Amino acid sequence: MDRNRTQTIRQEMISHLEQAPLTVRDISQAVSIMEKDVFHHLAFIEKSLRHQQKKLRVEPYQCLKCGFVFKERKTFKRPGKCPKCREGRIASALFRIEPV
Ligand SMILES: [Zn+2]
Repeated sequence: MDRNRTQTIRQEMISHLEQAPLTVRDISQAVSIMEKDVFHHLAFIEKSLRHQQKKLRVEPYQCLKCGFVFKERKTFKRPGKCPKCREGRIASALFRIEPV
C-alpha cells in the first residue's frame, strides 16, 4: 500500500470517528479496508492525536454473559475469551475521537 493511500485512510478514519462511535467492523466498512488492518491504523492515529488536542476514546470490549469489562486491555484487538466466565461472546469495543 503506498504512502498517500495510507494517509488518506487515516484521515478518513479520523473524520468518521469524530462523527460517531464505531466498532472495528464499522471502520473497516467505512474506509474499505480489512478488519485486521484497522488495528495498526488505530494505534498510529492514537499516537498522532497527542499533538492535536484530540483523543481516541475506547468504550471497552465487554462479556455478553457476565458483564466483565476488558478495561485494562492494551491492544485494540477483540479478546478471544472472557477471563471470568470463559465464554466467548464478547460485545465489540466502540472507538471515537473527542477533543481533549
Ligand atoms: Zn464473562
